[in-house]
Amino acid sequence: MTLDEHAEELASDLGVDKEEVKEDLANLVNYSVPMDEAKQSLRRKYGDGSEGGTTPSSKDIAEISASDSNVTVTARVLTVGQRSIQYQGDEQVIFEGELADETGTISYTAWEDFGLAAGDTITAGNAGVREWDGRPELNLGESTSIERSDDPLDVPYEIGGDAELATLAPGDRGINVEVQVLEVEEKTIDGRNGETDILSGVFGDESTRLPFTDWDPHAEIEVGASIRIEDVFVREFRGAPSINVSEFSTVTPLDRTVSATENAQRMPIREAVDSGGLFDVELTGNIIEVRDGSGLIERCPECGRVVQNGQCRSHGTVDAVDDLRTKAILDDGSGTATVVLDDELTADVYGGDLADATEHARDAMDKEVVAERIADRIVGLEYVVRGSLSVDEYGANLDATSFEASDDDPAERARTLLAEVEP
Ligand SMILES: [Zn+2]
Repeated sequence: MTLDEHAEELASDLGVDKEEVKEDLANLVNYSVPMDEAKQSLRRKYGDGSEGGTTPSSKDIAEISASDSNVTVTARVLTVGQRSIQYQGDEQVIFEGELADETGTISYTAWEDFGLAAGDTITAGNAGVREWDGRPELNLGESTSIERSDDPLDVPYEIGGDAELATLAPGDRGINVEVQVLEVEEKTIDGRNGETDILSGVFGDESTRLPFTDWDPHAEIEVGASIRIEDVFVREFRGAPSINVSEFSTVTPLDRTVSATENAQRMPIREAVDSGGLFDVELTGNIIEVRDGSGLIERCPECGRVVQNGQCRSHGTVDAVDDLRTKAILDDGSGTATVVLDDELTADVYGGDLADATEHARDAMDKEVVAERIADRIVGLEYVVRGSLSVDEYGANLDATSFEASDDDPAERARTLLAEVEP
């Protein structure tokens, strides 16, 4: 084998540039190092894990799988979030976020303070791999070594956690938002350290509105304020993303006004359902069916659950109270969602209040007449529905805040659309 062939074999084994290996190899051979020994030495230099024993092999992020136990990764830090958790009975501060290389991104949790900052290029030696939600994640702990490089790794991803509200999803961490505070209220809850004051409310930006909880009340969070908040995390609350502000978040007033949108996000039903849940969305479709459990219903006075024959699943025989509700299936051709109308919206579509409905049912000696009249009035018609969408294994429910008959004439809409696309 020629030097060139040795270099070629080595370069392909190690996945590095052949010319570089050939130069190193030539140097060693020139110093009278036997070829086999020279190749061993270069394998160590270029980090082939098979020679190192306990050092795990270097991997591209896209190659890491949940079946790896430990890996070595060179990556750019995209985000760093700080959070306090209960771990084995103790309070522990952890750091979480995303790492990226040219091939992909991966979430990490650091159990020690490695002083990571967004933009850092690091090599994490011996990082643990665990599976979370079907995807591999990295655990950086006491057996992990972190080396920094001054040479920034070029990655095709946004560095830093700046994000618009509409792009956030449960699980996001180390995020920065610029929002206007639309609603805020103080609450006292039974926290893990006794009674705690928290803030809850609604933030808005140009893209959408989202609920929030501030677990360590910040004075800058007041109604009407435009603020930048660094280091928030996102959790699911009632089926939709919710922003969590913590003791580690920093809140800074902005010298501009964030114009919070008044409009809900509009999208096809399938896209909304695929998103997993939305706090404020507007869906347009046809009502194809009014479901059982609509019209005049009975609720448990203790827990508010709908009861059958005065029997609550939690409270046994109860003195049930009457209520109005509608559950109707909305279909736009791309998908379906169950629209849930409360007593007021149900009274609107029924054309009468609870007293009217009970009288109607008594006269007919049948409760179902109420649901039947609602179905007569809405099935087959197109509606624009705004509300909060939650999605679980039983389906998608849109808790409506408004339910309006679409006044769009389909022919008119087609003309408008044509006018827009024609030059
Ligand atoms: Zn009950």
